[in-house]
Amino acid sequence: MMIQNTLPEPEHVTALRNQIRRFVVEKAPRHRRRAWDKSHDWPRDLFRELCDLGVCGLTIAEEHGGLGQDIVAAVAVIEELSRAGPFLAGPFIHCAFYGGMNISENGSPTQKAELLPRLARGELLFAYGLSEPDVGGDLSSVKTRGRVEGNELVVNGAKRWCTGADWADYIYCLINTAPDSPRREALTFVLIPGNAKGVTTSPIEHVNLRYTASSDVHFDNVCVPLDAIVGGPAKLNKAWGMLAGRALDVEKLEVAACTFGFAQAALDEAWTYAQERVQFGKAIAGHQAVAHRLVTARTKLEACRHMLYHAAHLANDEKACGVETSMAKLFIADTGVEIALACQQVMGAYALSDAYDIDRNVRDLLGMPIVGGSSDMQRNNLAGLWRLRG
Ligand SMILES: Cc1cc2nc3c(=O)[nH]c(=O)nc-3n(C[C@H](O)[C@H](O)[C@H](O)COP(=O)(O)OP(=O)(O)OC[C@H]3O[C@@H](n4cnc5c(N)ncnc54)[C@H](O)[C@@H]3O)c2cc1C
Repeated sequence: MMIQNTLPEPEHVTALRNQIRRFVVEKAPRHRRRAWDKSHDWPRDLFRELCDLGVCGLTIAEEHGGLGQDIVAAVAVIEELSRAGPFLAGPFIHCAFYGGMNISENGSPTQKAELLPRLARGELLFAYGLSEPDVGGDLSSVKTRGRVEGNELVVNGAKRWCTGADWADYIYCLINTAPDSPRREALTFVLIPGNAKGVTTSPIEHVNLRYTASSDVHFDNVCVPLDAIVGGPAKLNKAWGMLAGRALDVEKLEVAACTFGFAQAALDEAWTYAQERVQFGKAIAGHQAVAHRLVTARTKLEACRHMLYHAAHLANDEKACGVETSMAKLFIADTGVEIALACQQVMGAYALSDAYDIDRNVRDLLGMPIVGGSSDMQRNNLAGLWRLRG
């Protein structure tokens, strides 16, 4: 069984969804997914083929070589790729979202002209340098320092959990450039080439999202021109607005879409398994406790679908969607954990082996309420947006 989309959607999105689904089924079979997971790696050759379908242009305007921003289609691509795990969805996000979406929303005219056509072709990959050893959710307290010297910014400090730092063309890096100012007036986003002099990376061992390493990154007197400031030199100390803007709203959807894809894959697998595994003379799906677990999981999965695409349509129409994207990230990440654990129970001992995908999907789903703005941080955002005060 493969759970199908149940919501009405534009015809071109359905066509793209079907194309990506066929691509995944044909090119990313289980034995390859297992090998990528074990080696913490993603398939460069398949990603190239994916880029040739044009999907990296879905977050980029036509005037910059993209297909025109189409958030619903881009979210559907992540959903379908994530059914095979993070191995293709991850690099797609590094290109179309960390790169294409952020530069489209926040880049200077020069950055847009230089970077967006290459991002649309899938030729550039970005990494996110937000977290630090002592900084998780509280991003305004980043300690990595940027000092202006003439026409250059000299960067010193450390980032942690920087996924893809060892192969990214640019690290989209949040730094403090005015230590004596209030924190929200001290932040700057800067594009640091991954191979710049003074950048060193070392991988961190982790159990989830193993399409690549997440790394510790050290910046030791790394010099970049002021033009590397995202938005151009005038955006020095102006990153707080970029952190809270449309790019962040779409970022929450991108994490939610991954989660939804993983949860769908987990349920697909458990659903089939329950009809094949026979105990006490019948398929275990015939035992009420098992059937109820599956039915509850599928009902919650459908609720996730509605929240995800409702928020994606709002973002696509450029309507205010801070509330809906936070609710989608919160609900889908937390519900994804429930679905993972239910499917794990249904598949019994085999869920703890590597014979199926469930073990990886459980590992990945358990991490989703933590990464990309934790569930607690989404609750804080929503309490603030709804002006809940004591
Ligand atoms: C595999 C992986 C890949 C990652 N990739 C990247 C990446 O590419 N780039 C990047 O920048 N980061 C990345 N991260 C880091 C990730 O985004 C952070 O883990 C996340 O922001 C949470 O930060 P933290 O884990 O340090 O938690 P903390 O902020 O230290 O929080 C710990 C706990 O306390 C809770 N908490 C903290 N403050 C509050 C509060 N005010 N109110 C209520 N609860 C609170 C949190 O919800 C959480 O449960 C990655 C992490 C992993 C595991």
